[in-house]
Parts: sequence; C-alpha cells; structure tokens
Amino acid sequence: MQEPRITVIVPCYNEEEVLPKSSQVLGSILTKMIQAQQIRADSQVLFVDDGSSDKTWTLIKRFEAQNRIFSGLKFSRNFGHQNALMAGMKVAGKLSDAVITIDADLQDDPNLITEMVAHFKKGSEIVLGVRNDRTSDTIFKRFTAEKFYSFMRHIGVQLVPNHADFRLLSHRAVDELMCYQETNLFLRGIIPQLGLKTSKLYYQRRPRFAGKSKYPLKKMISFALDGITSFSVAPIKAILSLGLVVIAVSCIMLIYTAVRFFTGNVINGWTSLMMSLWFLGGIQLIGISIIGEYIGKIFAEVKHRPRYIIETDDYSPVQQPELLSEQQVR
Ligand code: UDP
Ligand code: MG
Repeated sequence: MQEPRITVIVPCYNEEEVLPKSSQVLGSILTKMIQAQQIRADSQVLFVDDGSSDKTWTLIKRFEAQNRIFSGLKFSRNFGHQNALMAGMKVAGKLSDAVITIDADLQDDPNLITEMVAHFKKGSEIVLGVRNDRTSDTIFKRFTAEKFYSFMRHIGVQLVPNHADFRLLSHRAVDELMCYQETNLFLRGIIPQLGLKTSKLYYQRRPRFAGKSKYPLKKMISFALDGITSFSVAPIKAILSLGLVVIAVSCIMLIYTAVRFFTGNVINGWTSLMMSLWFLGGIQLIGISIIGEYIGKIFAEVKHRPRYIIETDDYSPVQQPELLSEQQVR
C-alpha cells in the first residue's frame, strides 16, 4: 500500500493557552511519520476553530504561515465540539485516506497516532482510543461517567466505555458517517453503528496541561441527555411502567377507601389524599417533560438547519476560477 494521506483534526474552543504546545507536539509527530515514510508527505494537522473569542484563530494563522503541515478552519460562531469534529471530517475526509480526531488539550496520548495508522494500514476502518484508567479525572466525573455508561448499556445503547472522541476513521468510514444527517450529534453512539472493521488501542488519559475544561457540568449533562434521547426511547417507555405501577397502587387505594367508606369513617384521609395529589402531579410532570425532551429533538431535526457555518476554510484547495464561474451561472 502506498503511504496514506492523514489529516489530524483538532477542535479548538478558546484554546490559546494550549495551542502553542499542542501544535508543536502534533506537528513533530506527523513530521517524524512523514520522514519515516509511514504517511504521505502532504499529511496535515487541521485545527477547527469553533468560534473562539480569544487568540485561537490568530495562533492558527501563525502556525499556517510557519509550516504548511498546519491548516485551519474557522466557524462563524460557536457550534459545539461535535459539530467542529463533523466539519473537520467532512472537509478533510474528501482529501485524506484517513482522519484522526484528537482534543486540543492533548489529554489523549498523541503518541498513539503512529499505532492508529499502523492498524489502519492492516485493514481497520475505525481505530478507537480507549482510556484504560480515569485516575486523572475527578471522583465526581469518574462516578458520573461510570453510571452513564452502565445506564446506556441498560437501555440498549451500544457504546464503547471510556472511549471519547479520540479515533481514526478511514476515508470510507467518514463517507458512511456523513450519511447520518441528524442535528443532535452524539458521535460516539453513531460510530459503533457503522459496523465497519474496528480495533481498539488503550492509553492513559492525562490531566489537561493548561487552560480550563470547555465542558462545564451544565454542558456535560446536556451532552449526556443528548446521548440518551438521540439513541433510545427507553425513557418514554419507562413512563408506561411507571403508569402501571401507579394504577396498581391506586387499585389498592380504591379498596382501602371503600372499606373506610363502609365503616363510616371518611373524614380522615386528608393526608393520603394530599400526598397522592402531589405525588401523581409530580409523576405527570416528569412524564410530560420526558416526552417534551423528545418533541424538542424532533423540532430541531425537522427544521434541518445547517449544523455549522464555516467562515474561513484554509484547508480545501482554492477553487479554480472557471469552476467558480460555472457555479455562479447555475
Ligand atoms: N471544544 C469545542 N467546542 C466547544 C467545547 C469544546 O471545540 O464548544 C473542544 C475543546 O477545545 C477541546 C475539546 O473540544 O479540544 C474537548 O474539550 P475539553 O477538553 O474542554 O473537554 P473535557 O476534556 O474537559 O471533557
Ligand atoms: Mg479535555
């Protein structure tokens, strides 16, 4: 096999603190691989600026000017991590034999890139980076992540535990992935559904070396909810079970009330009445909100809005003038 052209995609949201080091590390890994003729000489690192408000884009432009191994894509505003990955893959997938996505903070081990490419050359269409321990995470993050994965397994969603968005996808896998048109993106749920030949590589995840996490608790919860409601209707089905339990309890209550009525003691019972009123009200509201969550998803999907808007694309080759005028005529 001729050496493959690889593009390493790095989503960046306000990452001015980490980019100088990340670019240096990723750049030198790719350069070494090019020199060792493991990958094609025009392989690149593509930074996707997800609407940063700090100096991220200025830095990317500087890297581009210094070394042609670096390239950049800039969103018109913040569209989120998953969309930044999607845009990078769409743009780079067309011109690469394989793409690798990795976070800008290098928490995922960039040295695994070489091994990922080796697996790709041996025939894997997808190579997943999987954390073999989470000691660098806070106890809270570890606990919630573990619960999340076991809940997802329980409701029948296939996920690879401890795999985030550090992975290699072949040109073919990217093509297939692009057929998934959903607005509510949860990539780590879609990838196992592709069913293509997959291998896993294990590594130790390090703490962020600079800057703050761009996933505060609120964003993390909404991402987890997206994962659940985009892949399973189990929560809606659970409302039915809940309803059946409530009906069973109400049958017992019916017998109890009848007995109380016939024994002529009907005044007390105010407490149980009030309790069931509040309890049932609560259950109904929960039920409605779960359904509302899905309706919200449908609402977002039917509008079919663009997932992102690219303001500047320094990666794709400049369009030829004759092609441009042809398009304008159309
Ligand atoms: N990120 C992004 N857009 C966002 C949030 C995050 O492109 O709206 C990028 C961020 O720059 C980083 C990656 O997604 O490269 C993962 O974010 P982070 O490291 O903050 O998440 P954590 O590792 O804490 O889960
Ligand atoms: Mg991180």
